[in-house]
Amino acid sequence: MQTKLQLQVSPQTALNEVLLKEEVKQHLSLKDHATLHIKILKRSIDARGRKIRINLTVLAGVDEMILPEKIQLTYPDVCSSRKTCHIIGAGPAGLFAALRCLELGIKPVIIERGKDVKARRRDLAAINKEHLVNPESNYCFGEGGAGTYSDGKLYTRSNKRGDIEKILKTFVFHGASEEILVDAHPHIGTNKLPQLIQYIRETILRSGGEVFFNAKLLDFKTEGDKISSIKILNETGEQDIVVQNIILATGHSARDIYELLNKKNILLEAKPFALGVRAEHPQSLIDSIQYHCGSLEEVISKREFLPAASYNLVQQVRGHGVYSFCMCPGGIIAPCATSQEEVVTNGWSPSKRNNPYANSGIVVGLELKDFEPYRKHGPLAGLELQKQFEHAAWMFGGKTQTAPAQRLQDFTNGKFSSALPDCSYQPGLKSVEMQQVLGKLIGPALKEGFKAFGSKMRGYVTNDALIVGVESRTSTPVRIPRDKDHLNHPQLKNLFPCGEGAGYAGGIVSAAMDGERCANSIKY
Ligand SMILES: Cc1cc2nc3c(=O)[nH]c(=O)nc-3n(C[C@H](O)[C@H](O)[C@H](O)COP(=O)(O)OP(=O)(O)OC[C@H]3O[C@@H](n4cnc5c(N)ncnc54)[C@H](O)[C@@H]3O)c2cc1C
Repeated sequence: MQTKLQLQVSPQTALNEVLLKEEVKQHLSLKDHATLHIKILKRSIDARGRKIRINLTVLAGVDEMILPEKIQLTYPDVCSSRKTCHIIGAGPAGLFAALRCLELGIKPVIIERGKDVKARRRDLAAINKEHLVNPESNYCFGEGGAGTYSDGKLYTRSNKRGDIEKILKTFVFHGASEEILVDAHPHIGTNKLPQLIQYIRETILRSGGEVFFNAKLLDFKTEGDKISSIKILNETGEQDIVVQNIILATGHSARDIYELLNKKNILLEAKPFALGVRAEHPQSLIDSIQYHCGSLEEVISKREFLPAASYNLVQQVRGHGVYSFCMCPGGIIAPCATSQEEVVTNGWSPSKRNNPYANSGIVVGLELKDFEPYRKHGPLAGLELQKQFEHAAWMFGGKTQTAPAQRLQDFTNGKFSSALPDCSYQPGLKSVEMQQVLGKLIGPALKEGFKAFGSKMRGYVTNDALIVGVESRTSTPVRIPRDKDHLNHPQLKNLFPCGEGAGYAGGIVSAAMDGERCANSIKY
C-alpha cells in the first residue's frame, strides 16, 4: 500500500532516513514488523520560529517498494524537416524554444553571438583578473545565456505561464539532481550548470538541430509583414540567411538589438525596471538572523542540518518598491558588464552555497515617469538611464571593473567608509560615497529601504556588510511588443519576441517556459 503524507520534522530528522522512517511509522501507527519504503516528494523550510521545522510531503510504501521514476523525454529527428526556425540567442529561452521545436518536428537553428560554454570561461577569468570585458563573451553573453554562471535558482512565480514541472524535468533529464523536483526553492549552482547546458546542446544537435557560436544577428530584411532574411556576422564575415520564422531571445543586455529595431521603426515600448546595488553580508550573520541564533556556536550547530539561509525583503518607500532581488546564499558577486565602460553587478553561487558571503541585489523599482529626463530617446529612455548608472559606477570605481562600494551602515548614515571589509567581488572595490553614484532617483529610496530592512531583520544594517554598485540588469527596460494570443510582433508575423530581453520573462525558468510558448506559436 502506498500513502502520501504531510509531516513537520526537525532538520536532523529530515536528513536522516532511519529517523524519518521512525517518524512515518508513528504517523501511520505501523507495527514494528511492517517494511517501510519512503520517498520525499516535496521539502520546504519553516524558519519563522526559533524551533526550525522542515515541511515534508512523503510517499510511504508499506510492504511495497517505491520504484524510482525514470524521466524519459524523446526528441524526434528533425534532420529532414522542411520547417525551420531560426532562434537568436542560446539562453534558457532560446534553448528551451529549440527543444520544443524538436518535439514539434521543427528544425531549430540557434544563432549565438557568444562562445560555447567552455570557451566562455576564459573570458570570465579575463573580466575578473584583467578587467577586460569581451563584448561578445561575458557573464551575460555566450552559450546558456545570462543564467549559466549564476546561482541557478529555479523558482518562479509565473506558474500560469507554462509547465514549471516540465522545465525542471528537462533539467533532470539533462543531468540535474532530482532534488530540484523536491525542494520548494530549487537551485543548481554555477559549477553544475555549464555541463547541463552542454548536454542540452548535444540533444539539439543529435536530433538534427543546428547551433552556431560566434554568430551575431546584425540586421534583417523584410518582405511585406515578414522577415525574409537575416544578416549574421560570424568568424568568416557577414552572411545573409533566408528564414521562415524567428524567435528573438537575445536577453536584456543585447542593446544593439533594441537599437537595431528602433532604427528600423519596429515597434518597441519603454518598460519599468529596477536599479540599485548588491549587498553583501557574512553568510553567518544572515544564518544567525534567519535561524534565530544567539551565538556563533548556535549558528554552527544549526547549519549542520540546514542550508545557507536566504532572505526576501520588500518595502514601499517614497512611492517606489524597494526589494531584494536574486539573493545568492554562500555566493559571489559577479562583474556582469557587457562592454568596457560600465560596471554591472549580479551574483552567483556554487551548488553547495558554501562561500562565506551572502549577496543580494537590493533594488528600487522604477516607473515610466522616472525616465522623463530621457524622453528624447523614446522607447529606449529606460535603457539610456540604465546606461548612465552603469557608466557612473565605472567612473567612480576608477574606470576599470573595480566597483564602487561602501559599508552598509555608513551608507545609511551618509558617512564615507575609510576602509572596506573583505568582499567576494574579484575585480576589487573602491570606497566611494554611493549616494554620488546612485543620485537622487535611487539613493534616498535605497537608504530608507535599508533602514526598514534593518528593523525587519535585526542586525541586517551593519558595517560588516557592504553595498557594491550597480545592480542594473534586473530586467529589461524595453519591451518588444507581441500579440497576446499569437505571440508574434504586431508588425512582423514571423518574428516572435521571446524571453527576458523581450520583456516576457524574468529568470531561468520563466525564460525557458516563454521559449516553449513561442515555439508552440510558430505557424507554417
Ligand atoms: C550572474 C547572473 C546570475 C543570475 N542568477 C539567476 C538565478 O539564480 N536564477 C534565475 O532564475 N535567474 C538568474 N539570472 C537571470 C537569468 O539568467 C535570466 O533571467 C535568463 O538567463 C534570461 O534568459 P533569456 O534566454 O531570455 O536571455 P539570456 O539568458 O540573456 O540569453 C540571451 C542570449 O542571446 C545572445 N545574444 C544577444 N544578442 C545576440 C545577437 N545579436 N545575436 C546572437 N545572439 C545574441 C546572448 O549572447 C545570450 O546568450 C541571473 C543572471 C545573471 C547575469
